[in-house]
Amino acid sequence: MNPFSYARPETVDEALRLGSQPGARYIGGGTNLLDLVKAGVEQPQYLVDVSRLPLAEVAALPDGGLRLGAMISNTDAANHPLVRERYPLLAQALLSGASGQLRNMATVGGNLLQRTRCHYFYDTGFACNKRKPGSGCGARDGINRIHAILGASEQCIAVHPSDMCVALAALEAVVVVRDTTGERRIPIADFHCLPGNTPQIDTTLAPGELVVAVDLPPSPYAAHACYLKVRDRASFAFALVSVAAALELSGNTVRSARLALGGVAHKPWRVPAAEQALAGRPLTALSAASAARLLLAGAQPFEHNAFKVGLAERAVVRALQVANRPPGGSP
Ligand code: SF4
Repeated sequence: MNPFSYARPETVDEALRLGSQPGARYIGGGTNLLDLVKAGVEQPQYLVDVSRLPLAEVAALPDGGLRLGAMISNTDAANHPLVRERYPLLAQALLSGASGQLRNMATVGGNLLQRTRCHYFYDTGFACNKRKPGSGCGARDGINRIHAILGASEQCIAVHPSDMCVALAALEAVVVVRDTTGERRIPIADFHCLPGNTPQIDTTLAPGELVVAVDLPPSPYAAHACYLKVRDRASFAFALVSVAAALELSGNTVRSARLALGGVAHKPWRVPAAEQALAGRPLTALSAASAARLLLAGAQPFEHNAFKVGLAERAVVRALQVANRPPGGSP
């Protein structure tokens, strides 16, 4: 592990000033970054610990939405009464991630920024374009069971590992970021990058920018939502495939729907046509399957992950069926 300097500022302005230095990295709970530093994947010169910043509030917004401070822990976000009441999809997604101990440490801001769990990325003995641009990709011809089936490139076939972000995508959250010059708002759909020719770039954050909050718009989906995560073991495993499904119902008729997939691409995967196909009629096994096919259209699996296509389609159908049940109905 390389030596690095460390500072723990008390104010956002001071954190931004320190974070604007070359080689600086922000660290919150450290549940991902410290692993990467210990493995030699990341070599920050300067760690700016933002865990003590006053950014751990959940606040109701005037429009009926909610602001989650970036430093609120995943546990506290998932258990907050307003999150549970207005955004149960998000609470479910958060509670499906990691273990209780990790959720206590991990922050909302850090969850957005966690890096892929591609084994070849973490093992510096293998080629990896994300870790070292131009070096190759160990996963393309390696064991690629956990890798992407959508949105991959010649350079990289990694997936984004977050559960929280899949729910945020379905809820159309907005990431609020700051640097020393001011604040900007990034829709979650524009926050994570597909690999393309620059797999080393995970997000659209500029150097020195700090995530300060996530804004959730008012949602009509609280009564009918389901986050379904399919993984190799029942706890503490990343998703092979996950689905955030939410329905706005008028009687039996779907007024609008949201669908996002996790574990299949380097960002939560949405296809507007899949959601539109559900609107204006009751949910049926046929309409759910049709939406699932639209969502998976264009999937291109690799040697070991073709199973993800069918798994994802079935998971979408299942999540929609659960979301369609009356509130309080058994899963
Ligand atoms: Fe690296 Fe991406 Fe290839 Fe994994 S899939 S080895 S992260 S380039």
